[in-house]
Amino acid sequence: MMLAYMDRAAAAAEPEDAGEPAAPVAAGCAAAADFGGLVSAMPAAVVRPATADDVANAIRAAALTAGLTVAARGNGHSVSGQAMAEGGLVLDMRALALSSRRGAPQMQLVGCPDGTSGGAGTCCYADVPGGALWEEVLHWGVKTHGLAPASWTDYLRLTVGGTLSNGGVSGQSFRYGPQVSNVAELEVVTGDGECRVCSPSSHPDLFFAVLGGLGQFGVITRARIPLRRAPRRVRWTRVVYASFADYTADAEWLVTRPPDAAFDYVEGFAFVNSDDPVNGWPSVPIPGGARFDPSLLPGGAGPVLYCLEVALYQYTDDEDKGTAATTSRVMMAPLKYVRGLEFAADVGYVDFLSRVNRVEEEARRNGSWDAPHPWLNLFVSARDIADFDRAVIKGMLADGIDGPMLVYPMLKSKWDPNTSVSLPEGEIFYLVALLRFCRAGGPAVDELVAQNGAILRACRANGYDHKAYFPSYRGEAEWARHFGAARWRRFVERKARYDPLAILAPGQKIFPRAP
Ligand code: FAD
Repeated sequence: MMLAYMDRAAAAAEPEDAGEPAAPVAAGCAAAADFGGLVSAMPAAVVRPATADDVANAIRAAALTAGLTVAARGNGHSVSGQAMAEGGLVLDMRALALSSRRGAPQMQLVGCPDGTSGGAGTCCYADVPGGALWEEVLHWGVKTHGLAPASWTDYLRLTVGGTLSNGGVSGQSFRYGPQVSNVAELEVVTGDGECRVCSPSSHPDLFFAVLGGLGQFGVITRARIPLRRAPRRVRWTRVVYASFADYTADAEWLVTRPPDAAFDYVEGFAFVNSDDPVNGWPSVPIPGGARFDPSLLPGGAGPVLYCLEVALYQYTDDEDKGTAATTSRVMMAPLKYVRGLEFAADVGYVDFLSRVNRVEEEARRNGSWDAPHPWLNLFVSARDIADFDRAVIKGMLADGIDGPMLVYPMLKSKWDPNTSVSLPEGEIFYLVALLRFCRAGGPAVDELVAQNGAILRACRANGYDHKAYFPSYRGEAEWARHFGAARWRRFVERKARYDPLAILAPGQKIFPRAP
């Protein structure tokens, strides 16, 4: 049965306009690894679908083959094997994105009156393949139409289907919602091999199940993303705090401002109070040439400092350049940051959103991009973030982690409770992202993995209201605890409805494949 399917897929592999083959290719490949570099699982084959039908055929073939599973692989930027399928089929979703036009995914503008853009709110939509990178959506939207989605991730070489299966957060989330709150419609191939179009009004249960659904309910082959007028430039500012209480009070004030008095982006991170080039002061200044002057820090500043990062969009090139700088300064005037430790720059919108590419280039140069990444991402309720800071950031991580330690707030009311994402209880919660880059001569990877485990145990032991983001658990009991009783019941029911044989996303290790 498997071979028959492969033959059929191979036949479908040569559409006249396809720039990429859509045939299954030999295993022994990138699909056995991911960005985390901690686990590996060899698939039986990698399928390169050209169409949603190819995805459906692969899933139907798996349904007829005992024990066979199917994992959609976006760009493989998971860190714990979530996009892998040991002995199963891996669907290379990049192939689907690139199948109809060499080098660029096919995207389409939908619902624009006369193809024109409207005001600052949603004016139309983009239909994009599930395997498109957000970077590709950005360049296509801005260059071709002067339009862009409102909600991003920090790093854009992630796929639309991959982030929508998790959440998709960045500094815009507090205001515009996460990426799972910025989708109008999905085309999904469910675990029974059916291709369905769903939205908040048509098959809403499937639509919300898939959003944040960890790939469990279907493969996203197309997403309809709301677009707005794209800003031209961004006033980007960083300021420094010695006090975590001041940092969180200001950050929470900023994310609860009314839209007409709010920044477009609020993020922040913890860093080490030292001149360490990776973990310390040199990691704070943004391009512009300003120097970090540690003599401005108050006496008694602790081992860890905090950097709040905000951005204000500008919609014209010139006239409001000065205005944005002034508005930004006025909005920041009440904040309690260390005066003098402020860094600002005016940058293009695309450059701002592409800022992590520079980090990638440097990490590729020094080899840490290809080294393991024992990352830990958590959502921690505002109620417990001060205790978390004391016990974990200033306690266990006071020397830094050789990478960013993001700590910034977002609002639960911007997330639809019908999606599959599991969040803490409180309205304000923080993303805590420990983005470790292993360097030569640094701690052993096992030690870092063990430290992540210790942090999770401390969260549980201290009763912090928290959830793992990109969770990695083993066995039903741990997953049930992650979701909580009611949401776990719903998750299990949805699995039975949309993927009854548990074919999809086996790398999440939630449900065993039905015999
Ligand atoms: P993969 O890792 O390939 O897949 C992730 C999961 O989604 C798997 O279970 C897979 O089976 C499933 N999946 C993939 N495609 C589909 C599809 N089309 N349909 C259904 N299921 C699918 N996340 C943020 O929220 N904000 C950030 O700022 C951010 N920055 C990051 C920076 C870096 C450098 C890295 C490596 C990751 C970052 N992430 C961030 C995490 C990222 O969102 C996750 O790795 C996510 O899984 C997307 O990666 P991917 O597209 O490569 O998906």
